[in-house]
Amino acid sequence: MGRRIFIAGNWKMNTTVDEAVALAKGVVEETKGRGDDVEVAVCPPYVNLAAVAQAIKGSGIKLGAQDVHWEASGAYTGKVSVAMLKSVGVEYVIIGHSEQRQYFGETDESVNKKVKAVIAGGLKPIICVGELLSERENGFTEKVVEKQVVGAYKDLSKEDAAKTVIAYEPVWAIGTGKTATPEQAEDVHSFIRKLLEKLYDKSFAQEIIIQYGGSMNPKNAKELLAKENVDGGLIGGASLKPDQFKGVVIPQ
Ligand code: PEP
Repeated sequence: MGRRIFIAGNWKMNTTVDEAVALAKGVVEETKGRGDDVEVAVCPPYVNLAAVAQAIKGSGIKLGAQDVHWEASGAYTGKVSVAMLKSVGVEYVIIGHSEQRQYFGETDESVNKKVKAVIAGGLKPIICVGELLSERENGFTEKVVEKQVVGAYKDLSKEDAAKTVIAYEPVWAIGTGKTATPEQAEDVHSFIRKLLEKLYDKSFAQEIIIQYGGSMNPKNAKELLAKENVDGGLIGGASLKPDQFKGVVIPQ
């Protein structure tokens, strides 16, 4: 299919600046043997972005942020803008993570505003979608994911939409040690790709990277990544240990 593999580490609210630099250096070392078609990014907390940018310099590893505000500047205490992220070397921004949706009032509307701001500012959004356990158990997985995808891409031109990455993260699998089976992941990934085909067109849909996220680790990465529509991973827990992260980037 020609899509690259894209593995991103979401460090969440972990690491002081010294810990972040040590972790980044460990990731640089451990992922040196990755294939040419494998892209890697790390997404530390805001306060560690500048230090991590230095630590990964020259390694080919990309820098990502975990969120952003959609406004350019002003009276938004506690928030950071796209331009601020860009100024420290950020390339990717995670948008709509389930923890943002669950705890901090993220909605499909705010996701859409952030996606547009990120693209307008020259960065690339990693758009997170995924169902709760109760939604899966009641047969609503596709309905929920469809609403989130349609909401995120609302009024986005094909040219802009081409700059996005999607992360399918079933909420019941995040940080729980419960992974979706490769078949469960593939079912939703192929559903998302068909949906993108409906929203835009087939060649567009074939190009979009769809990562899987939810307790992905060295033990299950190979099987998940072998699926036709699984193009990488958004990794939480296993991204905090360089040897574990290596096991996802270079699965054995
Ligand atoms: C995440 O936070 O995006 C995630 C997938 O976490 P974990 O790998 O720990 O489940």
